Amino acid sequence: MGVPDPTKELVNKKGIRLDGRKTTEIRPITIKAGILHRADGSAYLEWGSNKVICGVYGPRELNPRRFQESDKAVVQVRYNMAAFSTSDRKRPGPDRRSQEIGKVIADAFENVVLTERFPRGAIDVHVDILEANAGTRCAALVCAAVALADAGIPMKGLVSAVAAGKANDKVILDLDQMEDNYGNADLPIGINHTSGEIVLLQMDGHLTPAQFDEALDMAVEGNKQVLVAQREALLARFATTLAAKEAAGAFDEPEPSNEPERAERNERRGPPREGGRGGDRRGGDDRRGGGDRRGPPRGGDRRGGGR
Ligand code: UDP
Repeated sequence: MGVPDPTKELVNKKGIRLDGRKTTEIRPITIKAGILHRADGSAYLEWGSNKVICGVYGPRELNPRRFQESDKAVVQVRYNMAAFSTSDRKRPGPDRRSQEIGKVIADAFENVVLTERFPRGAIDVHVDILEANAGTRCAALVCAAVALADAGIPMKGLVSAVAAGKANDKVILDLDQMEDNYGNADLPIGINHTSGEIVLLQMDGHLTPAQFDEALDMAVEGNKQVLVAQREALLARFATTLAAKEAAGAFDEPEPSNEPERAERNERRGPPREGGRGGDRRGGDDRRGGGDRRGPPRGGDRRGGGR
């Protein structure tokens, strides 16, 4: 958040913002899953003029061992803003802000990823902001959720995030750079859509309780729109994968085989006789009742064994 400037008209009297959006509208969002072939999962997102790329590695064994948790995996998020992502060159490397954002996103996923399935493991989420225009922590979380799903990491639900806030004393959804810099409040909210739980909530600036409620409702609705984009990305990704598998014949009917029958016969026969004719006794033996060598042939039903 920059310094609020009440003299700047960010929302006009008709409730229209500088970029033409209504107060309840989010910026256009597109997501593509599975764009990096060497990562276990990946996604690329454009949201307004934010551009974000995410790669997921893992689950893998966490090293050094002193960081391991014996009963669950640790989700590690590295959020990085590229030097060229902002209007003023961003000093490369980690800083307090990027560490804080990595931490809040990791905390959000700790509540959603089924970490107990991978004791002593780590799931690494690397998010790079290529172009920034406010709302990058939400964009990072949204992109990471798709990349985690692409990696096949089991989760309780799909998570999304969007910020609500206030400018010119009006509650607005999905703040852009100007609104973030000169508005009065910024309230990023992340939601697990399966449970309805809020997994991320931060607030910068001032809202009255009524404005907070309004902003929360707005963010919940906005999250539903973001979820649509995430679902589309995953459907497109897995539809492509399925189509490729289908083309490669992965779903073709298998050739009819008598393997199960043979396996059943071998089971009835028991282990091969030492030095004997063991393994393949197809042919006369069965007909002679030699299939069950644990006892004398008992005619038709040899399963009972009691008679
Ligand atoms: N920003 C910047 N330089 C920085 C940090 C942020 O230009 O070192 C810009 C960037 O566009 C970012 C916006 O300020 O999206 C708002 O940053 P904030 O810390 O509020 O996080 P965000 O809204 O991106 O989650």
